[in-house]
Amino acid sequence: MALTGVEIFKLLPKTNCKKCGFPTCLAFAMKLAQRQVTLDACPDVSDEAKRILGEASAPPVRPITIGAGDKAVKMGEETVLFRHEKKFVNPNVFALEIKDTEPDDVVEGKINDLLTSEINRVGQLLRIDAFCLTGASGDAGSLEGLAKRVAEKAPDVPVIISTEDPEAAEAALKVFGGKKAVLYGATEANAEKMAALAKANGAVLGVRAEGLEPLTALTEKVKSLGVEDLVIDSGARRAREILEHNTFIRRAAVKKNFKPLGYPVINFVQRDDPTMEALIAGLGVAKYASIVVISSAEKWKNLALFTLRQNIYTDPQVPMQVEQKIYKIGEPTEESPLLITTNFSLTYFIVSGEVENSRVPAHLAVMDCEGLSVLTAWAAGKFTGAKIANFIKESGVEKEIKHRELIIPGYVAILSGAIEEKLEGWKVTVGPREANALPSFLRSRAA
Ligand code: SF4
Repeated sequence: MALTGVEIFKLLPKTNCKKCGFPTCLAFAMKLAQRQVTLDACPDVSDEAKRILGEASAPPVRPITIGAGDKAVKMGEETVLFRHEKKFVNPNVFALEIKDTEPDDVVEGKINDLLTSEINRVGQLLRIDAFCLTGASGDAGSLEGLAKRVAEKAPDVPVIISTEDPEAAEAALKVFGGKKAVLYGATEANAEKMAALAKANGAVLGVRAEGLEPLTALTEKVKSLGVEDLVIDSGARRAREILEHNTFIRRAAVKKNFKPLGYPVINFVQRDDPTMEALIAGLGVAKYASIVVISSAEKWKNLALFTLRQNIYTDPQVPMQVEQKIYKIGEPTEESPLLITTNFSLTYFIVSGEVENSRVPAHLAVMDCEGLSVLTAWAAGKFTGAKIANFIKESGVEKEIKHRELIIPGYVAILSGAIEEKLEGWKVTVGPREANALPSFLRSRAA
C-alpha cells in the first residue's frame, strides 16, 4: 500500500531544515505522498527510511525500457487512472507482428512498412516502434532465421520474441544480444526456463496467464526467480476482456499499489479485418495498454492510431505550442508576404503546411499566445491589435522585408483597424478564414 503523508513524515529527519525547498518536513512529506516530488530532494534521510520510502514511492507501474539506442522506448511509470488527474507518462508501443510462417515477400513488406511508418505530426515523430516476431511454426531454426533477417534489415528497431518454446527463444534472443528484447511467452508451464533465459540475455520477460488471478500468481513466481522487468498479459483478446482486464490491472496498481500487477500490459489485437483491428488497438491505447501488437501497418491505420496515441499522451493541461518567432517558409525575400498566426502547435503546422503548399515563399510571424488557437487567443485577449503591433515591432521583421503589409487570419478581421492604428505606416490585409484557402489566396496575389 502507498504510505500517507503522515506515515512518510514519521520517517523523515523532522529538522525542518528546508534543504528540500519546503518549509517543513511535513510539507515535503505531503508532496511525496502525492508523488509530486522525489525522495532524493531530502539529503538527510536515513538509509532505513530510504529503503522503506523508496519502495513506497516507486511508480506503481514499473518503468521498463525495451530496445537500445535512439529507438529504445520506455513504458510504464504511470501513476493515475485518468489523464485529467495528471499526464500519462510513457506512450504505448505499437509492435508489428511478423510470423515465421509468413512468406518472404510478406516479411519484406512488413519490415519495409515499419521502416517507412514514421510521420511528423505537430512536431513529433510518430512511428511503429517495434517488431513482434512470432514463432508460429514451432521450429526453432525458423524463428531464428526470421530474427536474423529482421536484425539485418532493421538493426535499431526493438523486438519482442514471441514463443513458448525455450529452445526457439534462446536461439532468437542470441541474435538480439545487448538490445533489451522482450521475451514473450512465459507461462506457468515454462516459467523457470524462460526466466533463466531472460536473466541470461538481459531481456524483459513477457508473462501470459489465462485470467487475472493466475497472472498475479505467475508474476509473483517469476519475480521470486529473480526477474524484475516484466510485461504482463492476462490472456484478454476480445474487446470487452481487454477493457475489463486492463482497467482492473491499472486500478490495482495505482489505487492499491498492488505490486504483482504493477507492470506494463501487452495486448494482442490482431484481426483479419484491419478496420476491426484498428478499433481494438484504439481501445488498448485508450485503456492502459503499454504494448499493442498489430498484424498490419496500413498508412491509414497508422495515422488513426498515432493520432489517438498522441492525443491520449498529451498533457491536457498544457497546450502544445511552438516557439514565438518569424518563420521562413521556402526562401522568402524582402518582397515576400508576411502572415501572422498564434503559437498553438496545430495552428502553426496547419498554417505553415498550407503556405508551403502554395509554393509562395513567405514570412510567417508566430506569436506567443500561450498555445491557444487564433479565435481562442483573441477571445482571451491574448491576440489583440496592440499585442500584435508590439510583437511585429520587436520581432525585427521590419529589417527583413521592404513592404509594410501584414496578412491576418480571416477570423480576426475585426482586428485590422486596431493593428493599423498601432503599427504606423502598415497596411493590414485580411486573409482567408480557413488555412486550406491559403494556397489559392497567396497564389492569386503572386500572379
Ligand atoms: Fe525535512 Fe529533509 Fe526537507 Fe530538511 S530537507 S526540511 S529534513 S524533508
